Amino acid sequence: MLGAVRPTSRAVTRPTDDGAKYQLYWGDLHNHNAVGYAKGSLERSIEIAQEHLDFFAFTGHAWWHDMPKMPDDRHMKWGNGFKVHRDHWTKTRELLREATSEEFTALLGYEWHSSGFGDYCLIFPEDQPDLYLPDHVNKLLEFAAEKQALAIPHHLAYARSWRGANFDHFTPAVSPVVEIFSEHGCSETITAPVGDFIRHSIGGRVTENSVDRQLERGLRFGFVASSDDHRGYPGAYGEGLVAIWSRDVSPLALVEAMRQRRTYAVTGDRIELDFTINDRPMGSELVQTTDRQIDVAVIAPDSIKMIELVRNGHVIERHFPEDTAIRPALLPGQVNCRLRYGWGPWAALNLGRICDWEMHIEISGGHFINALPCFQTGPFDEQRRDQLRLLKRTHLHLSSHTSRVKAYGEDPTKAVILEIEAERPDAALSIELKSPVVQKIITPLADLLRDNQIHFTGTFTAESFMLQPLVGPSERRATLCWNDHRLARKNADWYYVRVLQHNNHMAWSSPIWVG
Ligand SMILES: [Zn+2]
Ligand SMILES: [Zn+2]
Repeated sequence: MLGAVRPTSRAVTRPTDDGAKYQLYWGDLHNHNAVGYAKGSLERSIEIAQEHLDFFAFTGHAWWHDMPKMPDDRHMKWGNGFKVHRDHWTKTRELLREATSEEFTALLGYEWHSSGFGDYCLIFPEDQPDLYLPDHVNKLLEFAAEKQALAIPHHLAYARSWRGANFDHFTPAVSPVVEIFSEHGCSETITAPVGDFIRHSIGGRVTENSVDRQLERGLRFGFVASSDDHRGYPGAYGEGLVAIWSRDVSPLALVEAMRQRRTYAVTGDRIELDFTINDRPMGSELVQTTDRQIDVAVIAPDSIKMIELVRNGHVIERHFPEDTAIRPALLPGQVNCRLRYGWGPWAALNLGRICDWEMHIEISGGHFINALPCFQTGPFDEQRRDQLRLLKRTHLHLSSHTSRVKAYGEDPTKAVILEIEAERPDAALSIELKSPVVQKIITPLADLLRDNQIHFTGTFTAESFMLQPLVGPSERRATLCWNDHRLARKNADWYYVRVLQHNNHMAWSSPIWVG
């Protein structure tokens, strides 16, 4: 049995009392399917999550206590979905329990909508027979506390009374982290570059509900991102992922790590991010000190445009790797290559179709260190799966499907990022298609140092695949040390790190507070 290719977990040693080692795990804490009012079976969601994530929480649509009436009873879409969810609760619990193993965790949760108090996802560390659906947020949060559950508010920056967060009820004991990015967009600030709440948009973002305003008010919480995907695709690329620094991938360890806010948010590309102040990890609260040594380590899958250190809402340090990057990358050496595939006939001309891809990817003169999936939610299909397998160090197999029809964010592609150790200067990639056509190309890596390559699978409008130029270590890695000397202050300072790649994918660390 061949294992799924997963992003390599990176272990670091922390100066905790017990010298614990933390690994990086990737997951999705907020997503939907037909157990509720969205699409796809729960069985499918679990399989998808197991394919490309380390953990997920299924948070089916459960209740909306102050749901407005809509013309022609359209609100029954929600009402009917809640009934489906309720009737399936026993089965939901069973399926998630069965899906959890030593390598993978499926957490039980559900989503509670509220126009007035904002939406929450409840996530339980263990099985939970009670599906408690109150009509007031205080009752919900008390229930969460009693059950040791997390209550994670999301799409925070919508307006109050329009399902935006109501931070007057913010309770850090049950909401140690908040969801700052999803398919709804980004709540960090109202000018954050990724997404002005366009997909399921309820409306625009408002400053009073943005994350930076709450930190300014003195609230303390860590950051997560999760997809809120409605096509049953946990971890859908581009809709948000959460990274957790945890002892292991067990439910209790993950929930404990979230309580400690050792979490961070990414939009899609799995940017590895480590951030400490005076050797304390992200999410920490430090006592007042004038000398603050800030260490940041980033290993991004793609070229980094900028790393920013934010203090109290203002950028105080910036680093641009391209100022000193060695470009083009060096061969032999470590290089990343993004393989994108898709496009194809236009949906607008009624030519849209689903294209099935069977692809064998081989490297000569080197080996694969890893391969990172970038699988988006579209096109929806109950049966088809995106699957990436490392057959040996030099062989990968990809089964996937793409379409322009209902592509996420109008992007008709999926991608795989190949992490390659090129041992010889003449290392070459070979790509052999079995579907949609039989085709083989061999590309010396040297040809990808400056240029990309596109290969079409047929005549005009047919699907194509593209190898993007190689990205070397100096473009995508950074180890930074900054010192911030502050005179004694009455109020705490909060710091966090923001990473932006050239392709606009981002990461946000949880904050660290000093004072
Ligand atoms: Zn919601
Ligand atoms: Zn949701």
